[in-house]
Amino acid sequence: MSSAPPRLEVRNLTRRFDGQTVVDDVSFSIEAGQVSCLLGPSGCGKSTTLRMIAGVDMQDEGTIHVDGKLVCDTVFRVPPERRAIGLMFQDFALFPHLTVAENVAFGLKEGDRTRRVEELLERVSLSGFGPKYPHELSGGEQQRVALARALAPRPRILLMDEPFSGLDERLRDGIRDDTLELLKEEGTAVLLVTHEPHEAMRMADEILLMRKGRIVQRGAPYNIYNAPVDREAAAFFSDIN
Ligand code: ADP
Ligand code: MG
Repeated sequence: MSSAPPRLEVRNLTRRFDGQTVVDDVSFSIEAGQVSCLLGPSGCGKSTTLRMIAGVDMQDEGTIHVDGKLVCDTVFRVPPERRAIGLMFQDFALFPHLTVAENVAFGLKEGDRTRRVEELLERVSLSGFGPKYPHELSGGEQQRVALARALAPRPRILLMDEPFSGLDERLRDGIRDDTLELLKEEGTAVLLVTHEPHEAMRMADEILLMRKGRIVQRGAPYNIYNAPVDREAAAFFSDIN
């Protein structure tokens, strides 16, 4: 029996903007080696939840623990750069003036930096791309550089906010599969945000179904798909491709 605390645990997380409750008493935990998917329609509060976990926004109520250690409550707050949390957003946000290798090395300490950069570029099938600049790469290649950069410092948790939505539809499933393989090899805990049921079904070990700021169902993709909690959840999954 393992007594290790969850990699990430949020409890009773609540966020209000102008009197509107956008994230409403959200609690869940995620484990190392797992891809957990925060799935829900646009505007339901997914990005706001991620921003609080990353530490770039602060909750009105609730707590966030990483490996059993408190990183944030309503009075205490570990700054984002000290949370060992990696981020990947839909626009990749590579530094345009830095090479691919410099992008991946960004934020790494001297030590094994060169080796780690080479290793990651190889893992995302971009060996030899180190000296190139982002504008010389296709969208899919830039996405892989962004993934390599996010994983380089070996974050305890990787937060991904709609990371595939800027990509060509025809390439997306291939890139999803490649990404999943790399994430599994690295063994990091992943919280992936998406509004696409298909993406969650394809990538998640566990789905957290979100609606109007609340988690309405949690479970394995197969179980949620086969036994949606209500009509609205069923409808949400019905137009899956
Ligand atoms: P999602 O990522 O699920 O599409 P968001 O978390 O981005 O949803 O937004 C949830 C709701 O919170 C939306 O109605 C959005 O307009 C609102 N919201 C998000 N950020 C702010 C902000 N900084 N100020 C005011 N309202 C916000
Ligand atoms: Mg969003």
